[in-house]
Amino acid sequence: MNEMSKKGKVYLVGAGPGRVDLITVRGLELLKTGDCVIYDKLVNAGLLKYARPDAELIATPKRAGDESFTQQQINKLFLEKAKEGKTIVRLKGGDPYIFGRGAEEAVFLAEAGIDFEVVPGVTAAISAGTYAGIAITDRNFASEAIFVTGHEAEGKQQTGIDWQLLARFSGTIVFYMGMGNLKFITTRLIENGMSADTSAAVVADATLPTQRTAKATLATIADRCEKQKIGAPALIFIGPTARGDARLDWLSRTPLFGKTIVITRDAHGNAAFAPKIAGKLAVPIELPVSKIKDLTDSSAFIEVMAEIHSYNWIILTSPNGVEVLFSALAKLNKDARVFGQAKIACIGSQTAAKLSYFGLKADFIPAEFTSKDLAKGLIESINLKGQKILLLRSQLAADDLPQLLAQAGATVAHVPIYTHEKNICDLKAFSEMLAEKHVDWLTFGSPFAATCFFEQVPVDFVKTGNAKIASIGPVTSKKLADLGVKVDIEPAEHTIDGLLSAIEEYERQTK
Ligand code: SAH
Repeated sequence: MNEMSKKGKVYLVGAGPGRVDLITVRGLELLKTGDCVIYDKLVNAGLLKYARPDAELIATPKRAGDESFTQQQINKLFLEKAKEGKTIVRLKGGDPYIFGRGAEEAVFLAEAGIDFEVVPGVTAAISAGTYAGIAITDRNFASEAIFVTGHEAEGKQQTGIDWQLLARFSGTIVFYMGMGNLKFITTRLIENGMSADTSAAVVADATLPTQRTAKATLATIADRCEKQKIGAPALIFIGPTARGDARLDWLSRTPLFGKTIVITRDAHGNAAFAPKIAGKLAVPIELPVSKIKDLTDSSAFIEVMAEIHSYNWIILTSPNGVEVLFSALAKLNKDARVFGQAKIACIGSQTAAKLSYFGLKADFIPAEFTSKDLAKGLIESINLKGQKILLLRSQLAADDLPQLLAQAGATVAHVPIYTHEKNICDLKAFSEMLAEKHVDWLTFGSPFAATCFFEQVPVDFVKTGNAKIASIGPVTSKKLADLGVKVDIEPAEHTIDGLLSAIEEYERQTK
């Protein structure tokens, strides 16, 4: 072994077929730690956000007809970076070895004495099948499957493809890189004796929001794709399984698949909401139109903390509030024990969940998650006369809650612990999507979010984009109405989860 092997290491990592979250756990762990990430054109750019902020990111667009040059460049990069002792994550679409030239790169590394590991990935054929209702080895139809490159087919006298064998093959044939040669491939198979009626399917952009499928026969699939304007990257399935089975087509029963949903909370709130949207196979677009400003360095807050044990009830009205409160406590070198015997009321389940994260159980949560219901519920269940209540919440919150509690005889102290400020955000990509009518939903979780958003995006422009509007609850809906915006849905449960469920239900019904 030469000295190189002691230095850097290359991980050839399969990035999966398209969706960011179809990479393996091993692949993601390596991506998170690598010094340098070299990625292919087919790799979803969304994966790069998992790289270390200081990682060097290098794109290797494959230039048609000039591939050897590109490969040489990549090899040179391997040498350079390995020499510097770097950990290199070489991200390749799908699986590194399936038509991915991964083997060539691995051989180069082995010969150069550079340490490497190969992390397999979900290859396109497997994922396109599962996402299009095609089970490539469904034992009722196919006991064999074969992966073929469609790239080298045309014009070459001497190809590695045995057309006679393929034409006789009774299992599932999957062509990669075949869209440029689709007509040629189907003609060749028919010429060699395959029935023109054999089922054929093409799945483009598999697993991505833009996934499209065409189903036809060997004789008609090329025209069908032309009509439906389906092009690369796509896979061609040929054989009885390509017909697909509607019962396997779970994707068409996933109402939010591929829908773009804009979220307009602060960055922290968006980061919590986005994975829930992605979890429904929709695409979150995060626009942090506001930001949180911590107000816990105020003298009012410091004073109230000193006497917090004297309160009977403490009311918290948002997960943000809980977080700001506990980080302030930590700064004061205190913890949840400052609350002593005081009871704690939360406006809703998410605030209570955040509270339980810090080890405290909410004593009261109203059935409906609005400040009015919180007041009503407390008034109905306890005698508030003479009770000391402390409201720790946003400076922007409405007055109804303290007023109702005071009317019921409580002494109410209201100490704002945070506020929201407008945050100017980069709206370029969003505006382009909206202009092209590619935004399905705009969501608003508070009146302030609505204000901040529409201060940055004109109402008339939004109207031309045809996006539907979802509002978390009546107060936000009222603000939107005041701004001249028509609300399409408002969930019965005024939480972010409720909002997403309502959008899902709407899409399910209109599908
Ligand atoms: N190593 C990759 C394949 C690289 S070859 C893998 O294992 O998947 C590139 C070909 O893969 C494309 O021409 C196309 O046929 C197929 N492909 C890759 N991603 C795809 C996707 N999301 N949808 C459909 N086909 C895809």
